[in-house]
Amino acid sequence: MTSMAIENLATADWSDDIERLSGEHPREIIRWAVETFASRLTMATAFGPEGCAIIHMLAEIGTPVRVFNLDTGYQFAETLALRDQIAERYGIEVELVQPDTTVSDYEAQHGGPLYVTNSNQCCFDRKIVPLRRAVVGYDAWISSIRADQSSHRARATVIGWDPKFNLVKINPLLNWTQRDVWAFVVANKVPYNPLHDQGYPSIGCWPCTRVVAAGETDERAGRWVGQAKTECGLHSLDSSQL
Ligand code: SF4
Repeated sequence: MTSMAIENLATADWSDDIERLSGEHPREIIRWAVETFASRLTMATAFGPEGCAIIHMLAEIGTPVRVFNLDTGYQFAETLALRDQIAERYGIEVELVQPDTTVSDYEAQHGGPLYVTNSNQCCFDRKIVPLRRAVVGYDAWISSIRADQSSHRARATVIGWDPKFNLVKINPLLNWTQRDVWAFVVANKVPYNPLHDQGYPSIGCWPCTRVVAAGETDERAGRWVGQAKTECGLHSLDSSQL
């Protein structure tokens, strides 16, 4: 099935492709996505090891795919520096997609940082709204989620319909473990965020990310500490996570 032949992406039946691709290497799932959706395929990355591994595979495949980062204004300097390393290594310029307002204007509008008082609204304004704008005109997006990251993510399939953004969602790393990802990163010398070596297994915006204590097994334990929130709303299936 090619992108041109898809009359209704929302109801397209991907079951044969899912069955065929679920046991394949992520590179083959990405290759299928590139061949199927061509220039109407895009990818968002927060520069985690999963995203960097996918960028490496995209570079191996060689077909240009637009990759973007949701630059909330609250990212770590190390995260933004990784964008430059990726450009140098792969020649892939990750586009920075930014909200309408600067951090200082946004905080002034809300009487202070909203990540303290209403992190869901902050994620909505600074991630979800820019993302919705960024994917207009695209049919499909590649995500970096793994099934073993959370119960929400475990419900995904390798290919699925994403009603939140009206896109076909490709999850090439769904069946990889964290160990699989790091083995790939190390074996291929994929650039990664140095904060991972300083106790941050999962890295988002600096105000909402902390070092994970020894003994904590949940790799996302350092995100939105003290809140019920576990997702920013990009990949959750539960709208309350917005
Ligand atoms: S992760 Fe934190 S700082 Fe970043 S957009 Fe969400 S609430 Fe705001």
